[in-house]
Amino acid sequence: MRISVDEILCCAAGVCEAELPDVFEVQDGGPTKVLSESVPVDKRAALTQVVRNCPTGAVIVTE
Ligand code: SF4
Repeated sequence: MRISVDEILCCAAGVCEAELPDVFEVQDGGPTKVLSESVPVDKRAALTQVVRNCPTGAVIVTE
């Protein structure tokens, strides 16, 4: 699995970090950083929600 954030699209709203703080970290004044691409099976649904709920569609997940 590869998780990335489009740094141009990201508006640093923090939806992703609120849902999965072990995976996403909003940088001060900047785009979100991906901390880990290892998402436990029980968190996959949360990751799907992050992709859907990111207001700018900046979260990209590829298998
Ligand atoms: S939810 Fe989307 S726009 Fe908001 S901080 Fe995360 S990646 Fe950026």
